[in-house]
Amino acid sequence: MPLTRRPAEPDEPFPPEDCVLCGRCCFSELPEYVRVFGVDLDRMDERAQSYTVFIGNRCYMRIEEGRCAALRSDPDTGRHTCDIYEMRSDVCRSLERGSGACRGEWSEKAARPEARLVALRRARGG
Ligand code: SF4
Ligand code: SF4
Repeated sequence: MPLTRRPAEPDEPFPPEDCVLCGRCCFSELPEYVRVFGVDLDRMDERAQSYTVFIGNRCYMRIEEGRCAALRSDPDTGRHTCDIYEMRSDVCRSLERGSGACRGEWSEKAARPEARLVALRRARGG
């Protein structure tokens, strides 16, 4: 998916009511975006670990098509959910909705979840 840069609309309410209505911080083109430490791997079962990748001797969440591989976007409901929510990394847990870091992600990546939903709807033919 091409990297789409559209900032948040000036009148868009912040923070969103719920992260599943946003999902923006789970989007990135960077393969080293979400670090996974040993303590995180210990929390993850085999399925969750299948979403990780080692780059050199460091572990990260796998990035696929501009998003974390564990992100699930539903073209019907428009919701974005983490497939390993209970086992997600500390770095994901530490990003609090409404925080300054959240605002940065929210304001910079406004177009990406939308673009993902559009692509999924196109792929299934509507
Ligand atoms: S933490 Fe912020 S940017 Fe991330 S999904 Fe929640 S509201 Fe969106
Ligand atoms: S592990 Fe879950 S919360 Fe963390 S970036 Fe991936 S989809 Fe988002």
